[in-house]
Amino acid sequence: MSISGISPSEKKHSSSPALYCVIGHPVEHSLSPMIMNHAFKAVGIDAQYSITDSNELGLVQTVEDLKTRGYAGWNVTMPDKTNMCALVDELSDESKIAQSVNTVKNMNGFLYGTTTDGEGFLYAAGKLGITLPGKKITLLGAGGAASAILIVSSLHHAKEISVFCRSNRSKARAQVLSEKLSDISDTHIRICSFSDPEELQYQISESVLLVNATNVGMGDKAGFSLIPDESYLLSRPAVFDVIYSPSETILLKTAKKAGCRTANGLPMLFGQAAESFRLWTGKEMPPSSVILSS
Ligand code: NAP
Repeated sequence: MSISGISPSEKKHSSSPALYCVIGHPVEHSLSPMIMNHAFKAVGIDAQYSITDSNELGLVQTVEDLKTRGYAGWNVTMPDKTNMCALVDELSDESKIAQSVNTVKNMNGFLYGTTTDGEGFLYAAGKLGITLPGKKITLLGAGGAASAILIVSSLHHAKEISVFCRSNRSKARAQVLSEKLSDISDTHIRICSFSDPEELQYQISESVLLVNATNVGMGDKAGFSLIPDESYLLSRPAVFDVIYSPSETILLKTAKKAGCRTANGLPMLFGQAAESFRLWTGKEMPPSSVILSS
């Protein structure tokens, strides 16, 4: 069993800690246990936050197992965010639109699922001094992280969002979201292609914020950036990269050279964790936890 160090009998004991975890695959490198355990300790809540690899039992059985063990809640990461939607009893409006769940609250066996990724982005934007109402944003990518950013930015009245996509799959995803959002938001969403560099340059020049929501810049794509050079950043937009490892991507290096304000993905990670923590405990994540995101 992958749930670290907790025997089934422990949760039955009235003085045992409340149990939380992050599930997904791979999860062993997640920073969430460090952030959450630090926060629980800081506010004096007796709780343990661990990791659970969903590959061991499969997602459906993992969820059943967590319910049996009395887990009070869990975070969900790749690749399980979409499939978790079908395994909860109630979905938040954001999760219904995004078809993504990253936080589950277990209320005596009744599972409430929501996504806090968007709140994490708002926190990161705030760190860059960006408020969204009436603003124009250029967003690179249309996957899970990008969808959360697109939704929350639309619901917070961004004026215009230009979404750059590579594949037809990403374009179709952005199109579906754009149509759903048009019923509930006045934000104008423009779907663009990376194959048109002049359009990319123009849309960035009109934006207060450029967001990289792809994985270009990490892992085997660590040496790459979707922004070819500083000439794309002459208007000096704030630049936010969802990636936090490496802590400074090629994009952020280029943006710094161009004189842009920059932030990596850690504030978003912290912001989404803080929102999960609030949902589970009703308490604010203490400011001391912020040191983990700076
Ligand atoms: P995802 O759903 O797989 O989406 C990835 C997106 O990147 C897709 O739109 C994909 O387009 C695009 N892409 C990949 N390679 C590309 C390239 N060479 N050129 C153009 N577009 C490309 O992944 P995700 O869950 O959104 O995660 C994306 C990144 O965000 C990851 O690095 C993840 O670690 C990070 N993230 C950070 C946080 C945080 O809290 N900081 C939270 C969530 C995710 P195609 O459809 O063409 O493949």
